[in-house]
Amino acid sequence: MTDRLVDSFGRVHDYLRISLTDRCNLRCVYCMPADGMEFQPLDEILTYEEITAVVKTAAQLGVRRLRLTGGEPLVRKDIEALISELSAIPGIEDIALTTNGIYLAQKAEALKKAGVTRVNISLDTMKPDRFAMITRGGDLKRVLDAIDASFAVGFAPIKLNVVLMKGYNDDEIDDFLRLTLDKAIHVRFIEYMPIGHDDDGWRDKYLSLSTVTERAVALGMPPMKTENVFGNGPSEDFRLPNARGSIGLIHPVSEHFCGNCNRLRLTADGNLKPCLYWVDELNIRPLIGDEQAMRDLFFKALKIKPENHEMAQALERQAQSHIPTNRRMSQIGG
Ligand code: SAM
Ligand code: SF4
Repeated sequence: MTDRLVDSFGRVHDYLRISLTDRCNLRCVYCMPADGMEFQPLDEILTYEEITAVVKTAAQLGVRRLRLTGGEPLVRKDIEALISELSAIPGIEDIALTTNGIYLAQKAEALKKAGVTRVNISLDTMKPDRFAMITRGGDLKRVLDAIDASFAVGFAPIKLNVVLMKGYNDDEIDDFLRLTLDKAIHVRFIEYMPIGHDDDGWRDKYLSLSTVTERAVALGMPPMKTENVFGNGPSEDFRLPNARGSIGLIHPVSEHFCGNCNRLRLTADGNLKPCLYWVDELNIRPLIGDEQAMRDLFFKALKIKPENHEMAQALERQAQSHIPTNRRMSQIGG
C-alpha cells in the first residue's frame, strides 16, 4: 500500500459505505417523501463490475471495511455475486449490510456464505400497525423473521437501527431497552436527521437521545459505558446491568461525531460523498478503468471533506458554512 486516505484533519479513512440502489420496497416517513420519489434510471446506477473496480482502488488506498446499503440493498438482483467478488478483494476484511429486513430471512444463508459478516436491521417499532404506518405498508413479521434468521446463520453482531421520533416511537424506548436484557442484540438508537428535508416537520419529530439514557435510569437500569461494539460506527455504546445485549446511541444532531469520522460514501450513481450532510460529491463513474484518475478522485474527495456537519445548526435554524445535500437518505445510504 503506497498511500493512505488521510484527510486535512488527520482522520484516517478505512471504511466505505456503498449504496447499491436508490430503490426500496418500503417508504419510511423519515427517509422518503409522502408523494414518492423519482428513482434514477437503471442505466445511471453502477454495475457490479463498476462497484468492484471502485472497491479495488479503495482497498489499495487502505479501505478495509465495507457497508452495503441503499435504498434497500436486497432489492438488487443477485447481490450475493457482488458480495463474493468484494470479499475476494485483497485487503477487504469486513462486509456489513444495512437492510430493512424484508427480504433478509430468505437470503440470510446465501449472504453469509457470500461473505457478509454482520447485519444492521432497521426496526423503529415492535407494533405491527405502527410499523406499517412508519414504513408506509411494511409487514413487521418479516423483519422479526429476519432477526431470527440472522441469529440462525450466525451473523455477529446483529444490530437494530431505531430512528427515534417524537410522537411515533418514543413510547417504545423501554421495550427496546428491555430487548437487550435477554437477547444478544445491539440496539442502536439514532437521532432523526434532516437529510434532504429539514423543512417538513423534522424539527417537531426530532428528539435528543438523552431521552434514552433518562428512560434507562428511570427503569432502575442505569446504562454503563462499554467498549465499542464491533463495527465502524460513531455510536456511544452502553450495557444495562446484567444485559446480554447492548445499546448504542448515535446522536449526530445533539452531539456531532465527526472527530472520528473514518468513512467515505459511494452513491448508487457513482458519486463519492465525503460527508453525509453536505452537497459536495464527485462522480467516479467516468473514471472507472483509469486507475490513477480514480485514486486521484479519492484524494480530491478527502481534500474537500469539511471538519464536521452542522445538523445542530439546522435544528436551531442558524446559518451554515456549506450547502446541505438535497438528496434523501435513501439516495445516500445513511
Ligand atoms: N433500506 C435499508 C434500511 O432501511 O436499513 C438501508 C438504507 S437506510 C437509508 C439506512 C439507515 O438510515 C436506516 O437505518 C434508516 O433507519 C436510516 N435513516 C433513514 N432516514 C433517516 C433519517 N432522516 N434520520 C436518521 N436515520 C435515517
Ligand atoms: Fe427504504 Fe431504508 Fe429508506 Fe426505509 S429507511 S425507505 S427501508 S431506504
